[in-house]
Amino acid sequence: MKGDGRGPDDCPDLIGPAHDLPLDGHLHTNLSPDSDVPIDVYAAQAVERQIAEIAITDHVDFEPGAPAFDFLPFAVRERVVREAAERWADRGVAIRFGVEITYAHRDEPEIRDHLARHAYDYVIGSVHTYADSPYHPSRVAAWTAGRSLPDIVAPYFDEVLRAIRSGLFDTIGHLDFVKRYLVPHVSPAQLAAAPELYEPLLRALVETGTALEVNTSGLRQAAGETYPAQPIVERFRVLGGTRVSTGSDAHRADAFTMGLAEGYRVISAAGIGELAFRRGGSRVAVIIPRRFVTPEHPTGAST
Ligand SMILES: [Zn+2]
Ligand SMILES: [Zn+2]
Repeated sequence: MKGDGRGPDDCPDLIGPAHDLPLDGHLHTNLSPDSDVPIDVYAAQAVERQIAEIAITDHVDFEPGAPAFDFLPFAVRERVVREAAERWADRGVAIRFGVEITYAHRDEPEIRDHLARHAYDYVIGSVHTYADSPYHPSRVAAWTAGRSLPDIVAPYFDEVLRAIRSGLFDTIGHLDFVKRYLVPHVSPAQLAAAPELYEPLLRALVETGTALEVNTSGLRQAAGETYPAQPIVERFRVLGGTRVSTGSDAHRADAFTMGLAEGYRVISAAGIGELAFRRGGSRVAVIIPRRFVTPEHPTGAST
């Protein structure tokens, strides 16, 4: 099936809602300022669709004025998620208390202090774009006009590199999320043709043991592909990377597990047979179902 875009026979719609998967590692609930989904709505869907485990990774921002700056206290978020985990534990879904922290270099001391004092099961670090960003919709056309591709992505990728180098995170969320804002001024194909721009990030992930997330929200946004796309995940593997995660990054009930099967397929196609995860304590591996193992990587599950 190499290159023909087909997926597992029993799951033809890879970019729709997923069924029978071990983990969705990136979800937002009404504990985030940009989501209104009660946690039980995801949990009920997970049971119905045989999604064995979900990581609730609500936003925490450290930049004053950012949406999730002082949005809810840690204790409130922890209580809501842990109580839900107890309610649902015997009903077929394990719920983990994670977080998606917005990384900005200037906030690194505060982030480090927060993580030293608060125990999460699983921590995603992501670079987002603030109102003063060159990628803001009001500015991105002027930013991209007449600039080279390396210069265009530099503010985002440089910050991602610092996030990786900080060593603070289990996983780096949506490595090239900036694609969301660059389209149509820069196409995903232009970025795919410049893998060297990703190389420092991928090497830093390998060196620090930080996992690369394959975020499937890009499939339902203008980029039309995962963050990052499959060739980048393959390059990561070639460079020695083995730690990869995936999540739907749903903010709405109907986005729960959307594209998640494609995320599993992308990872498996890169020759990686397990997801990197943590449930508090030390890191664990979540085995990717055999149906995603492609013929060109017959031993994927033992990679
Ligand atoms: Zn994010
Ligand atoms: Zn997110």
